[in-house]
Amino acid sequence: MALELFGIAGDADKPVPEPATAPRKPAAPSSTQDGRSRRLKPASDDSQDLWGERSAEPAPATPPLTQTDPAPEPLSRVLQPASFRHPNANRELLLGNARVAYALTRVRRRSIGFVVDADGLSVRAPAWVTLSAIDDALKEKSDWILRKLGDAQLRQQKRADARIEWRNGGMFPLFGEPLKIVLDAEHRFKERGGALIDALHAGAPRELHIALPTTAEPAKIRDAVHAWLLRQARAHFIERLNYFAPQLGVRWTRLRLSSAQTRWGSARSDGSICLNWRLLHFRHSVIDYVVVHELSHLRVMDHSPRFWGTVATVMPDYKALRRSLKDEATPSWE
Ligand SMILES: [Zn+2]
Repeated sequence: MALELFGIAGDADKPVPEPATAPRKPAAPSSTQDGRSRRLKPASDDSQDLWGERSAEPAPATPPLTQTDPAPEPLSRVLQPASFRHPNANRELLLGNARVAYALTRVRRRSIGFVVDADGLSVRAPAWVTLSAIDDALKEKSDWILRKLGDAQLRQQKRADARIEWRNGGMFPLFGEPLKIVLDAEHRFKERGGALIDALHAGAPRELHIALPTTAEPAKIRDAVHAWLLRQARAHFIERLNYFAPQLGVRWTRLRLSSAQTRWGSARSDGSICLNWRLLHFRHSVIDYVVVHELSHLRVMDHSPRFWGTVATVMPDYKALRRSLKDEATPSWE
């Protein structure tokens, strides 16, 4: 039994050589009527789990009741209605003041399902449900949908703001602390490709010296930093896996690094663990949470209370860390 939170198949025990410039997009859902060619999604109980931006959160069972008159819309919203468009949108409707273009897929299922992720709103509905019935269902859940769409847009914005500048002096977070890229072709490197230099004075960031001339192309700088970071990620993850595995009474067998934009980890019952190198942007405790989460799956493969109980045995405060993982955006490497 495998709990696959990753879309990337493949099990080579080495870093995935995927260029950081091309975050993997899920396959486009098709709008065929028979539902046979749906995109592969993790089981619904995984969907709220270690997904960041793309968190495929199911809609609440009951829509919020709106019995009182709705509060007047803020003027800014009235003047500039919000607009959300899924890249594979094939339907559009007005929800409140917002124009929402969504991807509708006909599937063999008994009820209408909504998912809001970084792409926008996608809807899966049985073939026999009319389009107007689908629109009615969306209107009924419009509060939830608009709130989730707004959240997703905000996170995308945060990510765009946190774009790393690939130049001498550019910054990115490592273990939750700012790290400054210093191009230093003259440096005699003991480590491969780069060297961490402690802050020169109090308040100054740590520096990552990379063996490139200051005239190097941004793509070259990014690739050099990426290669360095992959080595750090592997060494750090192995150290943390070895630290927590005995505490949980499990044995992990191998580690694969992933590059998915927003999926943080997965575990298989054969003991293989997959962790996302982007986790190194987060502070240590958040990384440890993901390590503990995946190791705990070697005991309990689902997300049942027993699973969370296992996580809590070594990490009683895991809930706050889990929240940070969802709320904090990692910088864009594009
Ligand atoms: Zn999990």
